[in-house]
Parts: sequence; structure tokens; C-alpha cells
Amino acid sequence: MIKQEIYDEVQDLEVLCQRVCRTLWNHPELSGKEKNSADYMREILSKEGFAIENNNYLEHAFLAEYGSGKPVIAFLGEYDALPELSQKACTHKEAVQEGAPGHGCGHNMLGAAAITAAVAIRRFLEKEKISGTVRFYGCPEEELLSGKVKMAYYHMFDGCDAAITWHPSNTNMTHNKGYLANASAHFYFKGISAHAAFAPEQGRSALDAVELMSVGSNYLREHVIDKTRIHYSTDGGGFAPNIVPDKANAWYFVRAPHMSDVKSTMERLKKIAQGAAMMTETQVDIKMGCGCCEFSENVAFADLAYANLIEADGPKYTKEELSFAKELQKTVEKGIIEKEKNLHQVYNEAMIFGVSPRDQWKECELTASSDTGDVSRIMPACLFTTACWPIGCSPHTWQAASSAGTTIGEKGAFYASKVAAGIAYDLFTKPQLLEKITKEFKERNNETYSPMYEES
Ligand SMILES: [Zn+2]
Repeated sequence: MIKQEIYDEVQDLEVLCQRVCRTLWNHPELSGKEKNSADYMREILSKEGFAIENNNYLEHAFLAEYGSGKPVIAFLGEYDALPELSQKACTHKEAVQEGAPGHGCGHNMLGAAAITAAVAIRRFLEKEKISGTVRFYGCPEEELLSGKVKMAYYHMFDGCDAAITWHPSNTNMTHNKGYLANASAHFYFKGISAHAAFAPEQGRSALDAVELMSVGSNYLREHVIDKTRIHYSTDGGGFAPNIVPDKANAWYFVRAPHMSDVKSTMERLKKIAQGAAMMTETQVDIKMGCGCCEFSENVAFADLAYANLIEADGPKYTKEELSFAKELQKTVEKGIIEKEKNLHQVYNEAMIFGVSPRDQWKECELTASSDTGDVSRIMPACLFTTACWPIGCSPHTWQAASSAGTTIGEKGAFYASKVAAGIAYDLFTKPQLLEKITKEFKERNNETYSPMYEES
């Protein structure tokens, strides 16, 4: 048994990886509405001999499993798209369909690589008669930061020993830890409606409360730990200027490096909301949304991911692909490109070749949030990225959506499937690696985990 066997299995699945990338990209579905994407993935895995387990409460989540006994190694596949990011695979901004969703975070590639690695490992386990279980998790609603939190709430991750996760990016890199923890809350203010000119003294404005809450929360910013993020929007603030609004809402996110900081800041934000209600003689109802944890550190697992990034063959781009990447890059602000070029010391090409140094993740901190963080609190998890779009391009943009629909994205995904399968191969065949990773996980995660989710 040699490691080349697993790379050969992945190689046999290159067409599958490309097909999944392309199919999901051609049919982008929003978070919570990924019916066709989830069904498509279920069908592939079921044909490959995986047993599919669905969740009655979470329609587009599923667990596909093959094998028996320990270890139980999981791949996480996402497939949701983003609103308003419909984009053709071209070097200028042009929607396939105006206002439609698009794969601006590359989750088409994310799902494709994870499914390719899972199928390759399934075939390898069968061929070599190795005991153990491979799981593929169909994970919806990542963009709402809620899918895996709900899956954790319904105990879908129980019994797993390790999770292999990755994300499309512009670098080939391993992260020891990352992502900010996040909590979401809706504040519903209720006042008294009145004619704004005829009888203003009789009105109590819910919109005033929303505004005063914004003022309060902006003063709060100075007195929270560094890296805390507070953002808000409103989806309701009255109907017309001549009616004192009796209803107004605010929706807040609070993020910080640790969930404990998020929770304490959220408690202070609730006090601000109550203060705003008191000042305006209105009432406030607070409804907590889903929250997700930061990605828990595991150095041993990140070391293994790094070794596999080095070991697997990275993409070789054609001249056409490199000139496409250069054209796409020209649409990004020059300062950002220069900064990233200097950081990665890549000056001639628009795509990154090779693997970033082991510790470079510290300069490329992941300041977004992901529900993958919750998985990393339940079991050891690793997180790596591969280059799927040009240097300077960022996720959640039309440039990323464009690249995700090209062979550049497909090559990045295929590389990721080799890396993911290589990591799983090591975990299945070298038990001492999983022991070390599990030991570190237990040492670092002594707080009890509970998913931040309430059924409505
Ligand atoms: Zn994403």
C-alpha cells in the first residue's frame, strides 16, 4: 500500500470533480434553498455506495456514509451561492441573469473537491479492505452562518473523529486557526403610531429607538476588545414621514476572535437596546439568531494539511488561463494587488504557484466567520485553501464568481481534492497521527460546546 494509490483514485475522478464544479456553478442556489444541489450530491454518493441519511428538520443537509468502525473521517461539502452575484465566466462584470444568485464564494468548487475526495477514499478503503468509515456531510446555509450550527444542534456530527475542510482562495495555504466567532440578533421595537404633524405628542417612534440604538452601539465600539466587529442593518423603519412609526427593526451581527467575547458584547448590546426603548417609551423584543464559533486551533492537524499541500501535485495553468487571470486581476484596485503581490512575493503571474510558507496564515488572517468553526469545536478539524482565483481578488465578488466558473477554478478544486484525500489517507493508515491530533484537540477544547441555535 503506497500513497500514490490514493492520488491515482483521485486522478480517475478528475472528470467528476469538473462536472460537479460546473453543474453547481451553472445552477446557483441561495442558502436554505439548495434543493437541486443537495439532491445532485446525494445522487452521486448514493450511486457510489454511500448510505444517505437525511434530516427531517433541515431539508438540504445530509450525511453520506461508507464503511464501518473507527476511525470516522469526515469531509464537509457546501454548495450555496450568494444573492445578486450572477456572473458569466468572463473578465468583465456581466450577469448570466440580472439579480440572480452566483457562486461568488466558490462553494461549487468547495462541494466538488469534498465529494471527489470522499469518493476516492471510499474506493481506496474498499480496494485495500481497510476498516474505518468515511463520511461526506452535505452542508447547506453556510453563507447564513447557520447550516452546520443546526446540524450540530441535531447531533449530525456525533461519532466523528476528524473533519477535513478547505475553502477556495487565491493562495495555497494552511491555517492553524481562524474565522471570527459571530452572533446574530434581531431587535423589534414597538411604539405608538400617530399623525406626525397633527398629534406628534401622542406618538412614540420605534424608528427613534432604532436610531438611538445605533448611536449607543457606535459608542460601544471604543470599549470592546480589538478585532470586535459590530454591524447592523434595518429591514423595517416605518411607512411614510407623516406617520410616527410604531414598528421598526434592527438586525445586528457581533463578531470577535472568541465566542465568549461575542456573548459578553451581545449582552451589552441588549442593554443598549433596552436603553433606547426606555428613552423613547417604546418596547423591544429581542430574538437571537444563529451564532457560530471561531475555528479552533489544532497545530498537529494543520501540520498534516501543510504536508499534504506540498505532497500533492498543484495545478499547471495554460497560457490562456494565465492571461485570463491577468485580465481579471486588472479589474481590481491596484493598491490591493500590489499589497498581495508583495506579501506573497509573486510578481510575474496573476496566479499563485506553490504553497505559501507554513506560518504565512498569520499575515492572512481569516476575519470573516464560518459555521465550520462549530465543527472544529465538536471534533478536530483542519482548514486549508487552494488558489481558485487571481491574486488581489476576494471572495463575495463578481471576479471570484467568474473564476469559479472557469478551468482555473476547476484546477484549484481538483488540487484541493488531492490534498483532502491525501490527508484522509494519512489518518486512515497512520493511527498515531490521529492520536496526536485528538490529544491536542482535547487539551485545547475543555469548554463545553453548545450550538447557538433556538428552534422557532
Ligand atoms: Zn465561503
